[in-house]
Amino acid sequence: MLIVDAGRSVEGELGGGSLRCPVCRGVLAPWGWARERVLRCGSGDRWLRPRRARCRSCARTHVLLPDVCLLRRQDEVAVIGAALTRSVAGEGYRRVAAGLGVPADTVRGWLRRFRERAEAIRAHFTRCAVALDLELRAVLPAGGRVADALEAVGVAGRAWVLRFGPGGPWPAVSRLSGGMLLATRAPAFTWPM
Ligand SMILES: [Zn+2]
Repeated sequence: MLIVDAGRSVEGELGGGSLRCPVCRGVLAPWGWARERVLRCGSGDRWLRPRRARCRSCARTHVLLPDVCLLRRQDEVAVIGAALTRSVAGEGYRRVAAGLGVPADTVRGWLRRFRERAEAIRAHFTRCAVALDLELRAVLPAGGRVADALEAVGVAGRAWVLRFGPGGPWPAVSRLSGGMLLATRAPAFTWPM
């Protein structure tokens, strides 16, 4: 799986050979389509049929997932981000869920996963933020493990947009995490840049 910029033409990038294999950095070529899926967005449901690509060097195939998504999550990353932000601000998960129109169990699952991975998330996104913004000295403590992790995520997302914009910070967060922000059996985050 590879997260791609939803604002750009994947066909153009595949045709131009500018997409690289996340495993060996070989050039990716078109290789059919992945299954169609629905993405629940803030603005309503959206059907996606992600491209599949095959590496010309190692022959592995990858699903090219647009950066509005996270791996194996049915909701748009900006919706998930809003839930994390509201929770850290002190709202209970049921209220967050009702406010966003998402099932409460789903929101609880996101929060649990984020909490479990908070330290790895904080460390990874702090590293990303520093690499993206050379004037950044440190990500300031925000008052707790989860809040600190979200602060690092936010700083890195904004730094990406400032450098590479346009777009929102949450698609940038998806890219910086390789789609794995809330992945279940995620290995350590790989370096996206
Ligand atoms: Zn490869």
